[in-house]
Amino acid sequence: MLNVFFTVDVEIWCDGWEDIDRKFPEAFRRYIHGPTPRGGFGLPYQLDVLRDQGIGATFFVEPLFSTRFGPHPLEEIVHLVREGGQEVQLHLHTEWVDESREPLLEDCRRKRQHLFMFSRDEQRRLITIGLGLLRAAGADAINAFRAGSFGFNVDTLRALSASGIDFDSSYNATLFGPGSGVLSGRVVVEPVACEGVIEYPMAVFDDGTGLRHVQLAACSSAELESLLWQALERQRKAFVILSHSFELLNQAKNRPDDIVVRRFRRLCAFLDRNRDSFRSCRFSGLTPDLPAEQPAPLTSGLWATGRRIIEQAYRRRYR
Ligand SMILES: [Zn+2]
Repeated sequence: MLNVFFTVDVEIWCDGWEDIDRKFPEAFRRYIHGPTPRGGFGLPYQLDVLRDQGIGATFFVEPLFSTRFGPHPLEEIVHLVREGGQEVQLHLHTEWVDESREPLLEDCRRKRQHLFMFSRDEQRRLITIGLGLLRAAGADAINAFRAGSFGFNVDTLRALSASGIDFDSSYNATLFGPGSGVLSGRVVVEPVACEGVIEYPMAVFDDGTGLRHVQLAACSSAELESLLWQALERQRKAFVILSHSFELLNQAKNRPDDIVVRRFRRLCAFLDRNRDSFRSCRFSGLTPDLPAEQPAPLTSGLWATGRRIIEQAYRRRYR
C-alpha cells in the first residue's frame, strides 16, 4: 500500500504589485473560483471532483494576502475547503509581507520572496501570524506546512516545531531542497525526521534529462500512473503530488485547460479504482512511516517522457 498525498496550493496573485487593491477582487475570482464560459474550474470544481471520487486531499492555503485585503476572502476559501470535506493546512508566500496594512515584522520595507531569506525568529513570527489568520478564518487542527515556492530551510523546520506543527512538505529536490540543510549532500525523496518535524518531500523523478517534480500540470497521465506503480513496487512510504487552485485553467485563466482537467479526473478515478494499492492520505491524524534510508529517485521511461512532451506541446498550442 502506498500513501499518496494530493496537495493543492491555494493562493492569489494580482499580476504584479501595482494597483493591487483595484485588481484584487477580479484576481480572487480567477484564482479561486476560475469562472469560464463553460462553468467554474477553480477550487469548488476540484473539491466536487474529489468528493465524487471519495479522494482525500490537502489544501495548503496562503493566508498572508488577507493582511492587505481583509478577512472575508480567506474565510470564503477556508469555508469552501471544509465544506468540501478536505483539510486546510498552512502555506506562506512572503511576497505579501511588505504589502500588509499593518507591519508584520520590524523589517518589512523590502520584498523578500522566500521564507529562507528571513531569520529564524522572523520565520517563527510569520508562521504564528499565518496560523492565527487561518484559525480566525475557521480552520482548526493545522499540523502541516508548505513554504511558498518551496523556499524553506532548516530554520523553517525549527520554527514549525516551536509552533507545534508536526509535518512539513516544502522539500523539493528540483528547487531549494538540496540547499535547505535537510540531510545535506543527499537528495531527499522519502519522509525524514529533521529538527523536530517530519519532512514529506515532493515526489520527484529522473526523466533522463534531470529531476522533475510530480505536478498535475507538468506530467502526463501515463507518466503519473507509471510513477505511482513504480513507487508502489519499490515499497515507497509516500508520494506527494503538487497542484494549485488555478491549475485546471489556461494561462489567461478564462477557460479550462481540457488536458489538465481530463488528467485530474483520470487521476482521481485511478486512485479510486486502485484503493487496494494506493491510499489517499492527509496530514491530519497521520502516523508517519519513515524508511530506514533514502532511496534513489524514481525514473520515468522515455516513452512516458515522449508522451508528456507531446501533451505539453498540444497544451501550449491550444491555450
Ligand atoms: Zn504557493
